[in-house]
Amino acid sequence: MTHRIVILGGGTGGTLTANRLRRMYSPAEAEIVVVDQDDRHIYQPGLLFVPFGLTHPEDIVRPRGRQLHDEITYVQSGIDRVDVAEQQVHLLNGSSLGYDVLVVATGTNVLPEETEGLTGAGWMEKMFTFYTLEGASALEHALAGFEGGRIVIDIVDMPIKCPIAPLEFAFLADWFFTERKMRDKVQLTYVTPLSGAFTKPVAAEQLAGMLAEKHIELITDFNAGEVDGEAGTITSYDGREVPFDLAVVIPAHGGAEYVGRSEGLGDELNFVPTDKQTLQSHAAPNIFVIGDAADVPTSKAGSVTHFEGDILVENIVHFLAGEALEAVFDGHANCFIETGFHKALLIDFNYETEPLTGHFPSKVGLPLLKESRLNHLGKLMFQWFYWHSLLPGRDIPGIGAAMPSSGKHPVHTA
Ligand SMILES: Cc1cc2nc3c(=O)[nH]c(=O)nc-3n(C[C@H](O)[C@H](O)[C@H](O)COP(=O)(O)OP(=O)(O)OC[C@H]3O[C@@H](n4cnc5c(N)ncnc54)[C@H](O)[C@@H]3O)c2cc1C
Repeated sequence: MTHRIVILGGGTGGTLTANRLRRMYSPAEAEIVVVDQDDRHIYQPGLLFVPFGLTHPEDIVRPRGRQLHDEITYVQSGIDRVDVAEQQVHLLNGSSLGYDVLVVATGTNVLPEETEGLTGAGWMEKMFTFYTLEGASALEHALAGFEGGRIVIDIVDMPIKCPIAPLEFAFLADWFFTERKMRDKVQLTYVTPLSGAFTKPVAAEQLAGMLAEKHIELITDFNAGEVDGEAGTITSYDGREVPFDLAVVIPAHGGAEYVGRSEGLGDELNFVPTDKQTLQSHAAPNIFVIGDAADVPTSKAGSVTHFEGDILVENIVHFLAGEALEAVFDGHANCFIETGFHKALLIDFNYETEPLTGHFPSKVGLPLLKESRLNHLGKLMFQWFYWHSLLPGRDIPGIGAAMPSSGKHPVHTA
């Protein structure tokens, strides 16, 4: 019998899952179908570099269908809804797809219209987001022409994808204006709804210290309620006001809209409640979830999606064979943090373990929780790995799904 596996979303998670499954099953054993709404696969970590002219849109976008192995069916259409009880996906092109196993890999969307005033006067003129290709390109022009004043980097709400990217933006802005010999004319302010610079206390302490060293003001516990482009202010729900000449906003995020139209599938933000270890949805045992679409308590990041892929595929194979699911995801996340001046930090953590010091992946390798040029090179190299190893579903030698512990030490905080 040929199984049908339908994968919703052909981004990072959908593509690597489809390609890994194709290696596991012959076409006679399993038909693999990927659905996505467009044919533009963006290497999203590259969006950080576009505003600073360090990369260009054409360098980070490739056709989606071409990232899929032969004998994977690619359907380009929006998704209307999933009928969980009937095991059917209804597409916006009018067709329907039945499935034995469904993989939800539709990620998360930015929702700038959810914040009052954000998409009003000044949107894409003095208020931008680099979380979309269009926003990152528009911001490149704005930064190139910026003559001085107050730049505010504001996270509207959590969760967001790559929670480290706004900090990287702040560090790169410090570097960019220093290189242009006008850092003294630019006041940088980092505004976050968190009570520290980052979600993980150990890394938050170190990153707050780096913001202070670079003279970047940190404002915490700030929940942005309204943006006024004409006045140039962001106001929090508790009435505090932050003025700006140029605002770089990370809008609220939500899961894909069709999740809300699919009875029983999602939560109030359209993320999909998921078993954090097996990656099986709570909606039905034959629906699995990978990447940003899941509500699991770890970062929404490509590295997490990559590590989840190993576990997810193993569990799907067991599920289709009628066996117990054995593979367990530990929440492993691994993030390079660009700090400017050709350096980067690297942090590695999971559900239970805070970022450790030492090296990644083993006793030798990239230094953890320490700025280095090697980490910066690692971040730049990652784009090659993304297209040539991670998306095609190949293993990266020495890097497994579980967080490695050899040669690593906890940080002692006060
Ligand atoms: C600025 C920025 C910097 C980042 N930097 C890093 C980094 O340095 N390291 C890191 O690990 N991660 C980083 N990330 C995060 C990383 O890119 C994501 O976590 C990762 O791509 C998630 O993969 P995914 O498959 O869940 O979602 P995606 O790759 O976003 O794919 C989701 C897919 O679903 C499709 N889709 C959605 N809704 C529908 C619908 N209704 N119908 C049809 N198709 C639909 C979309 O078109 C998309 O192709 C960054 C992200 C951003 C925005």
